[in-house]
Amino acid sequence: MIDSAIAESAPSNRLEDIRTHARRYMTTSAPRSPDAHLIETALGRHLFIPDGSRLFDAEPALFGRFDAAMTQGRVGDLLDEVGLGGTPYIDDAPLVAPPVHALSLAIAQKCNLGCSYCYAQQGEFGGAARNMAAATADRAVDLLVDGAAPGSRLNLAFLGGEPLVNRLILQATTRRAAARAEARGVTLNFSITTNGTLLTEADADFFEEFGFAVTVSLDGPRDAHDAQRPYKSGKGSFDRIMANLTPLLTRQRRMQVSARVTVTPGNLMLRQTLDQFIGAGFHSVGFSPMLSAPTGQGEMQADSLEIMLGEMIDCGHEFERRAVVGERYPFANMVNAMREIQKGTHRPYPCGAGAGYLGVAADGELAACHRFVGDVEGAMGSLELGIDERRRTTWLAERHVHRQQPCTECWARYMCGGGCHHEVIRRGRPACDYIRGWLHYCLEAYLRLSPYGLGEERRSPVEVA
Ligand code: SF4
Ligand code: SF4
Repeated sequence: MIDSAIAESAPSNRLEDIRTHARRYMTTSAPRSPDAHLIETALGRHLFIPDGSRLFDAEPALFGRFDAAMTQGRVGDLLDEVGLGGTPYIDDAPLVAPPVHALSLAIAQKCNLGCSYCYAQQGEFGGAARNMAAATADRAVDLLVDGAAPGSRLNLAFLGGEPLVNRLILQATTRRAAARAEARGVTLNFSITTNGTLLTEADADFFEEFGFAVTVSLDGPRDAHDAQRPYKSGKGSFDRIMANLTPLLTRQRRMQVSARVTVTPGNLMLRQTLDQFIGAGFHSVGFSPMLSAPTGQGEMQADSLEIMLGEMIDCGHEFERRAVVGERYPFANMVNAMREIQKGTHRPYPCGAGAGYLGVAADGELAACHRFVGDVEGAMGSLELGIDERRRTTWLAERHVHRQQPCTECWARYMCGGGCHHEVIRRGRPACDYIRGWLHYCLEAYLRLSPYGLGEERRSPVEVA
């Protein structure tokens, strides 16, 4: 049932198989109607309705009628006829001043690496290198915690540059934030994204004590990583990072240590990377394509996105093989996709940026997210003057997926949300075929895996029309 053609092909044929497979998914997932999408698996025929992210098994006759309706441009009528129309789950109204439940602090706008594609321009965001002061970090915590309703769940993330450059402030801020959250009766989770070069055993103990989600930026096996993420001197950083990670990987209980791989045309060996990092003991491993870099260096083009999609699907097939025999295979993109499909997630934004999530610059300026630090496009006020609610309202109105093109015509719009705002503003939407191909594959995989159960909270996975 699960396609094993890629895994079994000889290495010399593998790249061509990967490409062929990816092209097939890109073609099959091309948008025909914004209101329905058809899926065929070995289990049968299925209908995905974007409005509400509803997934149905479909008898051949019904499937055929939708196929014809797509060609004739009358899917809306057919949805009404079969009782699947009605008031849309998502209308044109933007979110209005949602409570802030997550902040990221650019605790150090400086970095010791010289990554080829860094959106933060070696950590400094195009400005002067600086650390966040304790008073600024405290103010940010107050903004997050003081406004939260008792019982709510919050997240405080430390980013940079490299956040461990400013370790003492990071630690003091964490301790104070944990105490304030407890006093207010809210749950506060901590996370950090680090390049891993400065990690120590004491950091492992600290992160374990506060249950941090630790994300380490690692771009693949040694040679690929070192080519993309060298020290400023040009020396490779891989061996140092892996040595530093040993105490974290062995001590993780409350703490979870994950690897995040930024994919460029230079490190497309995703399956090899995934297996190596899972073998090393990471809690999960995830991939994101590099779509927009300040210099353009390392940006993915159509050709490399095709290979990436094929590699992602190959990793997905391995996830499926393991899942059916009850083995853990923590491929984060797949785990997240299965969870979102199961929940029926449908949303008008790609993420919480400028909504429930804001980034805080080292000088206390607020931004739509960590990538908009120092960028006027995503400016959201300051800790001193407060959130610029007019700006936030405009942002949420303009960024709604119903205002994005060609998203209004795309069946994947409420799963995708229109793509990362930062990448879209900087580069447009070069990855739609990749995104749809991946989501189509994930829907198929979900249907295949449903009989095996996807966790205790599972609702009925497939509603039968
Ligand atoms: S950005 Fe996402 S929703 Fe918009 S067209 Fe591309 S795949 Fe579809
Ligand atoms: S705008 Fe992009 S980088 Fe910022 S939070 Fe959203 S997805 Fe992430």
